[in-house]
Amino acid sequence: MSIEIIHIGAENEVTGSCHLLRINDLNIMADCGISQGGDRGLPMHEWPVEPKEIDYLFLTHAHADHIGRIPDLIQRGFAGEIITTHPTKALISPMLEDAMGFFDLTRSEKERLAETIDDLSWGFEYHERFDLKKGVSFQLGMAGHIIGSCFVRIETGEFSVVFSGDLGPKNTPILPDPDIPAPCDMLILESTYGDRCHEDRTERVQRLGHILTQALSDDGKVFIPAFAIGRTQELIYEMDRLFSDPELRRNFPDLNPKKKIPVFVDSPLGLEVTEIYAKLSAYWDKEARDLHERGDHPIDFDHLYAVKDHKDHLKLLDMPGPAVIIAGSGMCTGGRILGHLKKGLDDPKNDVFFVGYQARGTRGGDIRRYAKKPGGYAVIDGGRIPIRAKVYSLTGYSAHADQKDLVEWVAAMAEKPGKIKLVHGEPPAKGALASLLKQRGYDVLL
Ligand SMILES: [Zn+2]
Repeated sequence: MSIEIIHIGAENEVTGSCHLLRINDLNIMADCGISQGGDRGLPMHEWPVEPKEIDYLFLTHAHADHIGRIPDLIQRGFAGEIITTHPTKALISPMLEDAMGFFDLTRSEKERLAETIDDLSWGFEYHERFDLKKGVSFQLGMAGHIIGSCFVRIETGEFSVVFSGDLGPKNTPILPDPDIPAPCDMLILESTYGDRCHEDRTERVQRLGHILTQALSDDGKVFIPAFAIGRTQELIYEMDRLFSDPELRRNFPDLNPKKKIPVFVDSPLGLEVTEIYAKLSAYWDKEARDLHERGDHPIDFDHLYAVKDHKDHLKLLDMPGPAVIIAGSGMCTGGRILGHLKKGLDDPKNDVFFVGYQARGTRGGDIRRYAKKPGGYAVIDGGRIPIRAKVYSLTGYSAHADQKDLVEWVAAMAEKPGKIKLVHGEPPAKGALASLLKQRGYDVLL
């Protein structure tokens, strides 16, 4: 029996996830994501396997840095099966349509590609074990990262491996907490926040309430760069709590005057994904389902506005505050958030809230860094925009488990994994997590 695991992408960085498992003469790929910021993906012609030789592609979730290279993979001959959860299958096409905008394809080519993806992909239930060929079976566990996210356990009689994908923290709004995997010989573990602990997530609605109150006291605009999927729905959920939970309403009276602050989701993809999220109530956690049953749709409220058309986006750019604007991309590498930043980043009345990871080399990473420096500016469309808006980072909003969550998740397994290979983290994060796990007696590979 020869087993080989090759990390094609996201071994020492956090984007471009792609791992290849060679087992029982099968080529099994876990994720096929696009690289962002300063990260560079290995060109496909340098891969150790031809796309047409890949038997199965598992998808841990629908973020572009885990699925974004699927169109390319198919164009280069991949015809295997794509295996994932039901919600992720529902999200592949809208998320890829967004990513496919980067490719030079005609409308009919895009449609054909979307059909091919739909034909090749299969949604499976969580927790059940399914057989592939050649004595290999798999099982999907809840990862609590975004809706539909899973970790993947692949096993033969002799060997078992778990690909964690991206793990979420506990207490994420809308989503159930991550499951604990059964013991395995090899655990491929993400380490995005391997060197950091987030703010207390149980307090984050309060923190959002305080920051929004402060930010809106001067009629400014609050820009929240957010990925279309996950954070956008969580923010809507928590704003819904701030505007409708009786206790929170009392605590934040300035957010609940007669005329409510308009909240705009300025992202066609964000809207589409929010609609899909809204339909997948079977995959929500108990709190969200209970609210829904009591008649409060947890990801909707009456002063939430959807901005779909480009002409309405242009109007929004000129609209005075106060307003909350949620727009992509999450790391400010593109998307409608750029128009807002170009117009409003130099205005001290405004605020920028980062709620997600900002990879090095991305514009979001630069804004965070240079906001603290005198004369700091961001480059947008070739022009220098001084950073005068207030810049905050709410790490409690991360969709990723932090150091404590990762260690607890591993420690909760009934037996220590044979080996742990850390991936999906920048070197300091991997190093810090590795030393902590080693202190606890784990066999860790960097
Ligand atoms: Zn992710």
